[in-house]
Amino acid sequence: MSDNIERISESMAKLSMKWLSAEDEYPDLSKHNNHMAKVLTLPIYKKLRERVTPNGFTVEGVIQTGVDNPGHPFIMTVGCVAGDEETYEVFKELLDPVIQDRHGGYKPTDKHKTDLNSENLKGGDDLDPKYVLSSRVRTGRSIRGFCLPPHCSRGERRAVEKLSVEALAALSGDLKGKYYALKNMTEAEQQQLIDDHFLFDKPVSPLLLASGMARDWPDARGIWHNDNKTFLVWVNEEDHLRVISMQKGGKMKEVFTRFCTGLTKIETLFRERGHAFMWNEHLGYVLTCPSNLGTGLRAGVHVKLPNMSKHAKFEEILTKLRLQKRGTGGVDTAAVGGVFDISNADRLGFSEVELVQMVVDGVKLLVEMEKRLEKGQAIDNLIPAQK
Ligand code: ADP
Ligand code: MG
Repeated sequence: MSDNIERISESMAKLSMKWLSAEDEYPDLSKHNNHMAKVLTLPIYKKLRERVTPNGFTVEGVIQTGVDNPGHPFIMTVGCVAGDEETYEVFKELLDPVIQDRHGGYKPTDKHKTDLNSENLKGGDDLDPKYVLSSRVRTGRSIRGFCLPPHCSRGERRAVEKLSVEALAALSGDLKGKYYALKNMTEAEQQQLIDDHFLFDKPVSPLLLASGMARDWPDARGIWHNDNKTFLVWVNEEDHLRVISMQKGGKMKEVFTRFCTGLTKIETLFRERGHAFMWNEHLGYVLTCPSNLGTGLRAGVHVKLPNMSKHAKFEEILTKLRLQKRGTGGVDTAAVGGVFDISNADRLGFSEVELVQMVVDGVKLLVEMEKRLEKGQAIDNLIPAQK
C-alpha cells in the first residue's frame, strides 16, 4: 500500500471510529451464504474499517450487496464489489480469500494468463443448431482512472459514456455501429432489446441495486451495437464496458473470433485516446465483481436439454466439465422448457481460449448425452472425469 493510501486511511479511520465501535457496526451475517460472509469475521472487519481507497471507498461499500442479499436462488454469490481499481489491494484481507474461494484456490501469488487468439481454439463451429439456439461470448473492461459503477460519480459515469461513444464510433466494416442511450429509448424499444437478449435487464436485481451500481439510472447508460447486432457494447451497467459477440446457432468459433478482433480494436481505440484498461499480472482485467476478474469472460450457449436436465447427474456433470447453468432470461431467471444458458464457470486462472474450449467441448458432450437420452439409452459411459 502506498504512503498516500495509508495516510488517507488513517484519517478516515479516525472519522469513522469516532462514535461507535466495530462491534456496534458489525453486520449480522448469521443467515448468510455468500463468499464475503464466510470471510468477514469481526477481527477482519475491525481492521478493514480503518481503511479507505484514494477515491474514498470503504469496507461498507465493498460488502453492502452481500449484507443485503444473504443468498441467491441459483448461484453462490461473492457478496462484495470493488468501487475502484485500488479496492482489491486496500481490502485484500477480505478480497484475497474471497477470490481464492470463488476461483478454485487461486492464490495471491498466482499470475493470470491472457490468450485472445481465436486460432488457438480447436473446433467450435459445429455445435448442433437443432439444440444450440444461440452462442455468445462476453467480457467486461474497466477504464483506468475512473471509479467503478458502485462508486463512480454522475460526472465520471458521463465521462465514461462520452469516451466510449467517441472510441466506438471509430470502428469500421462489419463492426461499424451506433450508440443508443437508454434515456433516449422508448419503453417499447428498450423492452424489445431485452426480450431479444441484446440488452441488460432493467435494474431489478437486488444484487445490482444493493451494490449501488444502479444509482441515477438510466443516466449515462446505453448500448452500442453494429448493424446486424452481432457485436455489442453495454455502457455503464455492472462494468464500465461489457463487450459482447453473439449470433444464432452453434458457430461458437465465429462468435469468439469476432469477439477477439473487436475487443482488441476497442482496446487500441481507448489507448489512442490516452486510456488504458485496468489490468494487472495477478488479477488480469480488473472488474466490479470479484467473480469476473481475470478474463471476465463468459462464453455461453442457449441450449435445449429437456432430458439431460432431468437426469440425476446433471449438476455433477456440469461441475466436472467446469460449466455453469442459468435461465435464458439472465442470471436471475430459472430455465423454462428445458432450455438453459450453459457457460464456463471459471474466469480467472485460465486463458480466454481455454475457457471457450471448455464450453465448446462440454456443450458438444451435453448435446450427445441429450440425443442418447432421447432414444432411451444410458449415458454412464459418457460421463467425464473432473476437468
Ligand atoms: P451476463 O451478465 O453474463 O452478460 P446475464 O445472465 O445477466 O449475462 O444475461 C444478460 C442477457 O444476455 C440476457 O438477456 C440473456 O438472455 C442474454 N444471453 C446470455 N447468454 C446468451 C446466449 N448464449 N444467447 C442469447 N442470449 C444470451
Ligand atoms: Mg449480468
